Amino acid sequence: MAEETPKCIFCGIIDGSVGSAKIYEDELVICVLDIFPATKGHLLVIPKKHVSVSTQLDDTTTAHVFAFANKISSILFDAMGAQGTNIFLANGQVAGQKVDHAGVHVIPRYTDDGLKLEWETKQITEDELKDTFTKLSSKLQPTEEQPQAPVVQKTVEPEVVQETVEEEPVEEESDDDVLP
Ligand SMILES: [Zn+2]
Repeated sequence: MAEETPKCIFCGIIDGSVGSAKIYEDELVICVLDIFPATKGHLLVIPKKHVSVSTQLDDTTTAHVFAFANKISSILFDAMGAQGTNIFLANGQVAGQKVDHAGVHVIPRYTDDGLKLEWETKQITEDELKDTFTKLSSKLQPTEEQPQAPVVQKTVEPEVVQETVEEEPVEEESDDDVLP
């Protein structure tokens, strides 16, 4: 078994040993105000089960976390006058994760709120695009026997073409004069 994290702040919030501004709780998630908000009304939706990254969550909890994040966005529009929200999840330190317990940030956005969640786009070559496409799509297709080119072709080529080829032409071209 993996060692338990000695002191997980989110688990502390969940069990009540760490104080928080809890606005919602059910059997799967807890929702608290972030004490270091990016904007006014910044919320954290935390699954009660301690997992480091969201990929360790079961599908039911995952669905509930994101459904709740979606629902609370709607409430932020109504109750806080937010003009938008960002729903943000960091999996891993390299992604900016600060606490070793998965959690979804719901950040209300207001005109001129000064928050920047932007990145510079990069150029990608045809080969890089194809390589990335193959790596990912082959994981999602059940046809593992032919992971490379066939997968690409499958999605690029039109699907209907072959079906019309099988039938032989019905018309008899010899009798030009006899038309129905
Ligand atoms: Zn935890």
